[in-house]
Amino acid sequence: MKLSWEALPLELRTTFRIAHGASDRRDNVLVHLDEGLGEAAAVAYHGETQAGIMAYLAAVGDIWEDDPCLLEDVLARLPAGSAAARAAIDIALHDVWGKRLGQPLYRLFGLNPARAPLTSFTIAMAAPEAMAEQAREAGLPIYKIKVGGAQDVAAVAAIRAVSSARLRVDANAGWTREQAAALIPQLADYDLELVEQPLPVGDIEGLRWLKARGLDLPIFADESIKTARDVAAHAGAVDGVVIKLMKTGGIREALRAIHTAHALGMEVMLSCMVESSVGVTAAAHLAPLCELADLDGPLLVRNDPFAGVTYDGARLCLPDLPGIGVYSVGQRL
Ligand code: MG
Repeated sequence: MKLSWEALPLELRTTFRIAHGASDRRDNVLVHLDEGLGEAAAVAYHGETQAGIMAYLAAVGDIWEDDPCLLEDVLARLPAGSAAARAAIDIALHDVWGKRLGQPLYRLFGLNPARAPLTSFTIAMAAPEAMAEQAREAGLPIYKIKVGGAQDVAAVAAIRAVSSARLRVDANAGWTREQAAALIPQLADYDLELVEQPLPVGDIEGLRWLKARGLDLPIFADESIKTARDVAAHAGAVDGVVIKLMKTGGIREALRAIHTAHALGMEVMLSCMVESSVGVTAAAHLAPLCELADLDGPLLVRNDPFAGVTYDGARLCLPDLPGIGVYSVGQRL
């Protein structure tokens, strides 16, 4: 098999401001493995850069098999390092697998695409009135509200005033234990569904401390969770986990993490980074296994060169083409 890659510059429709910082563009990497496609998202707060991803890819070497079904053998030979680069290779391998078998991934996994949960749409941090305006204009049934700033309660109140949607808030590790304990009960007054990553990465004891306070809102861990092992470490500390291919290093480990979470009584939100249709469509094939979805990446990007999963409002429509089912729309910039 032949591995190659190229820069995949993504421009965002609106400035994406979260507790980790703000950005207008992302410099992802597109991977080709024979006829397979994969994507690596360069996310600074996970230590991923475009240069680092490309350096990883350049060092992979000849690990391939002629038989496209020997996925586990090939993936076991991947060197340690960049989870995003490993995800891109894993996605491309799955794409080749599906294309050569002539089936979309969800069928190979035995999943019913009609069971995919509705996706949320992300509202990045801005002035509360501007965030409310976004929610009012979009008119969708589920929003993920980015918080972790000075106006968190005002932002949620403003959105609730104009929308009866299901609301989730994501603090992106932006609160201290004390802030979280004070803010979560205030936010709960606005009929929220859950709170994502209230505390810094690694503070599992803090999550247990929050849970012991009997707060009214389910808590999900995101940045703290990368692999199935991290999921197991959070058993009893959170109500759910956020799984992303760019953290697990691809579809294979995401499946293990999803099943680990369910075995330990936790729900799973399947999510994405700022990614094109390549990465997000690959993830969407696993959506029927998960209780919650946050797969709005392509909706945030202005110049997505690919088409794959489509959206009927908040409903995810999986492509029925073989593999991940993504094709170029001929708009490469
Ligand atoms: Mg999150």
